[in-house]
Parts: sequence; C-alpha cells; structure tokens
Amino acid sequence: MQLLLMGAPGAGKGTQAAKLVKKFSIPQISTGDMFRAAVKEGTELGKAAKACMDAGKLVPDEITIGIVRERLAKDDCKNGFILDGFPRTVEQADALNKILDELGKKITCVLNINVPAEYLIERAVGRRLCRKCGATYHVKFHPPKGDTCDECGGELYQRADDNEATMKNRLGAYEASTRPLIDYYKNAGVYTEIDGRQPIDKVTEDLVSVLTSVQD
Ligand code: ADP
Ligand code: AMP
Repeated sequence: MQLLLMGAPGAGKGTQAAKLVKKFSIPQISTGDMFRAAVKEGTELGKAAKACMDAGKLVPDEITIGIVRERLAKDDCKNGFILDGFPRTVEQADALNKILDELGKKITCVLNINVPAEYLIERAVGRRLCRKCGATYHVKFHPPKGDTCDECGGELYQRADDNEATMKNRLGAYEASTRPLIDYYKNAGVYTEIDGRQPIDKVTEDLVSVLTSVQD
C-alpha cells in the first residue's frame, strides 16, 4: 500500500501515521521528521532546511523531492509506505508520480484528514513530542500520564515552530501551496476525506475502514 496522509499542519497526520504503521507494518515517511533529524545532526540538509522551518515556510521543492526520492528507494519501502507531509506542492506531487513510475508503483490512496483552521493553532501549540521515540501528545487532547513519555519514559519537548506566529505562516503556506492538491488527487480518483475533528481513535477507525476497503 502506497498511502499519502494529507492535512493542514496540526491536523493529526503524525498521530495517525504512527497508528497505521503498527496496523499495516509499513514505514512512515515524514519529511518534517527527516528535516528535524537533519537540523539536529547539523548536516548540510539541516542547514538548508532550518531557516525555512523556523519561518514557517516550505523547504524548496528540489531539496524535498531529493530526500524523498532517496528514501523511497530503500528496502523497507518495498511493500509500501505512508507518506506524511509530502507532497505539499503540485511540483512535489508531479515528482512523486515520476518517482513511483520509476519504482513500478502507484498511489493506493490519498487520505486527507480534514480539520478546519480554527482548530489548528490550538492543536499545534499544545503539541508535545518525545525526544527519544517521537511519540506525540497534546497537553489537552492527549495528555501524557506524567511529565515524561508514556511509551518509553523519554523527555517531552515542544517544537520550535509550534508557536502561534509561525503557525500562521505555516497555515498560509498550506492554503497557498498544499490545498490545491485536494483537486489534484480528486481528479486522479484516489482521494478520500476523513473528518479530523473527531477524537483520535475515531479518526483512526475511519482511516482503517477506508484502507481495508481499497485494494492495491
Ligand atoms: P500533524 O502531523 O498533522 O502536524 P499531529 O499528529 O502531530 O499533526 O497532531 C497535532 C497535535 O494535535 C498533537 O498534539 C496531537 O496530539 C493532537 N491531535 C491529533 N489528532 C487529534 C484529534 N483527532 N483530536 C484532538 N487532538 C489531536
Ligand atoms: P511538519 O513536521 O510536517 O509540520 O513540517 C515541519 C516543516 O518542515 C514545515 O513547516 C516545512 O518547513 C518543512 N517541510 C516538511 N515537509 C515539507 C514538504 N513536503 N515540502 C516543503 N517543506 C516541508
């Protein structure tokens, strides 16, 4: 299964991808996670991405497409993958079609987690992540039991770009560059929308019910 999880920043893509990874045993490929890892390691890629991420802008297409092309060629993607946060522009979507053609694969399903704008800032600002295992929490909607990660005891932190000012720019980038992909994938006949305002487990249930009905 080649899945694309779409949705505005804070819609719940990472949260749902983690659940789908467990259910379907295919890897989650998050360009945001890849950029954050590169920033942490101080690589050239990290240096190139950091300024864009801090400003809430998209990283240039040629950089983003390059890392996805490399990642999808890895062995663990043979039986499928969940793309989380890619593509975010029409140029990236066109490039993805080309990459998949080269790999002899096609998109099984594009799942858009639809959440209205007024929910998104609260979701992002309240997000907390585990430094060790990457588990996602929310101070109000999915609080950890204590001060550390429920899964592994790791330290919890807040992303630098999860503040109101940067989120406004990220939502602007979503509207300008990513929203057009809804029609792009509707026209390709692979698009499904899920109501992301529902509780986390209900969103998962809806996603799984779509996925069990689609065939590769
Ligand atoms: P994305 O990967 O789309 O940016 P996340 O999965 O990281 O979004 O979710 C953003 C924040 O919202 C996290 O703190 C997460 O715990 C919380 N969240 C995710 N899904 C829901 C939901 N259905 N209802 C309430 N909060 C949610
Ligand atoms: P995310 O973790 O998906 O919220 O992404 C965090 C940041 O990484 C974004 O605000 C962008 O700066 C950058 N980023 C992640 N994915 C992409 C992408 N597909 N194209 C361009 N920039 C991206």
